[in-house]
Amino acid sequence: MTRARMPRPHEVAAARRDPRLLRAMAERQLDEAWRTRGVCQSVDPETFFPAPSEPADAAVALCRTCRVQGPCLAWALDAGDSHGVWGATTPRERRAMQVAWQGAGGPDAAVVDEPGPLVRDRMLTLVPLS
Ligand code: SF4
Repeated sequence: MTRARMPRPHEVAAARRDPRLLRAMAERQLDEAWRTRGVCQSVDPETFFPAPSEPADAAVALCRTCRVQGPCLAWALDAGDSHGVWGATTPRERRAMQVAWQGAGGPDAAVVDEPGPLVRDRMLTLVPLS
């Protein structure tokens, strides 16, 4: 397992002002019913897990049309999930958001560079394409 570098203070400060993070704070939900309303339910899950060398633009653009962007990002930050695109954010963007989130009272979740069971769970819960 490799660890991502810690975000710099100016990156965390910018993350605290990011409208996506503010929306996540406002729309955080304790249940996961939002998952069924995600745009990604009808898209190939691989779209949301581009390789580190690939652009994430397609997934981020889809997320921006999604009504549950806030709860989705909140979930990813609660889970400390650093893989894939969640709530229109890339893993790199979420590293700074993670620090801001924890400072705002979120759980002390670890930021790791390997997929965990939560990522696999997401892959399994998505509706397969026909
Ligand atoms: S914000 Fe993106 S990843 Fe989250 S549910 Fe919507 S489409 Fe899926």
